[in-house]
Amino acid sequence: MKAFLSPPYMNGDDERKLVAQAFDSNYIAPCGPMVDALEREAAARFGFDGALATVSGTMALDLLSRALDIKPGDAVIASDLTFIASVAPFVDRGATPIFVDADPATWCMDVSLAARALESHPRVRALIATDLYGQSCDIDALADLCLARGVYLIVDAAESVGATYRGRPAGKGAWAAVHSLNGNKIITSGGGGLLLTDDPDLLALCRKLAGQAREPVPWYEHNRLGTHGRLGNVPAAIGLAQLRHLDEALRDKQRVWDDWLARLPEWATPMPTADYGVPNRWLTVVTLTGRDPLQAVAALAGGGFESRPLWKPMHLQPVFRDAPAFLSGVDDALFAHGLCLPSGRGLTPELMDEAIALLEALPC
Ligand SMILES: *Cc1c(COP(=O)(O)O)cnc(C)c1O
Repeated sequence: MKAFLSPPYMNGDDERKLVAQAFDSNYIAPCGPMVDALEREAAARFGFDGALATVSGTMALDLLSRALDIKPGDAVIASDLTFIASVAPFVDRGATPIFVDADPATWCMDVSLAARALESHPRVRALIATDLYGQSCDIDALADLCLARGVYLIVDAAESVGATYRGRPAGKGAWAAVHSLNGNKIITSGGGGLLLTDDPDLLALCRKLAGQAREPVPWYEHNRLGTHGRLGNVPAAIGLAQLRHLDEALRDKQRVWDDWLARLPEWATPMPTADYGVPNRWLTVVTLTGRDPLQAVAALAGGGFESRPLWKPMHLQPVFRDAPAFLSGVDDALFAHGLCLPSGRGLTPELMDEAIALLEALPC
């Protein structure tokens, strides 16, 4: 493979040095100085009062579903165009997911459809809006809707680490936001996540639930069920070094985006940029007119380039075939025509030219 979709990118020896420090401290455990530093620096960088480092972004969402004590009979509103991890933890606990189509101007949750979805069920507990491909959802508008109905707003900001919305970090303004530090995201701990919130009670509860809901007594005492969700000190060292280089990652991703845009044929249209924020350009995503994205994926793969269709919308997933959904056709069209281009930080203009030549040879 000449170019993966979104490979990890290490900053010289910095990650390795912090991992060595973690080894020297002998905190080869799900706690330690690297975890503490990662949580402290992430909260500061992303403008939240507190952060909890978790084994994955999915786990951070799972902890929120536990903190809300989601039960059968509850419902959650969620973006239809997303990765299944946004909703799987909530559905697993018995909630009915209600999916909401995307706004064509942002590819994130359509606010007016969300308003209708909120009225459609008597027990909506949370609204989980995804920041798609590094672009923030319209947090203020969604927060207003949620506030009026006593619904918790969660931003699945797994893909938008480092993005901003009206000058604020992604997810800020929600009850909680979740970042992913998975290997394919803009920064990585090899696998991990961050739960961000300004609510100290929520943070304390999630921290407790991530430690099997152990009570603060000398013996193992449990009043409720938790899980084992805390990030290890060794991966936290990788994540910490990556976090300290986030600005360079953002600069590189924007460079990759700009270089792609300078080369795209006129039948490939880049994802729109919302006027309310600055995306992190995690992936360069386009829609194709008159060309088949699956043929593009195959042609690129033949030349050593990894690419992919967009997320398959949740309302098309067999596992959610009975779920209610508020649809406008936007997600269907994006799935039918969208293509995620290889977007690694090290991707060179020369390789892009090679990939573009493969795309230009596609049949109309
Ligand atoms: C990556 C991702 C997640 C899950 O994060 P993991 O760290 O891989 O568990 C959740 N939601 C979205 C939208 C994602 O892209």
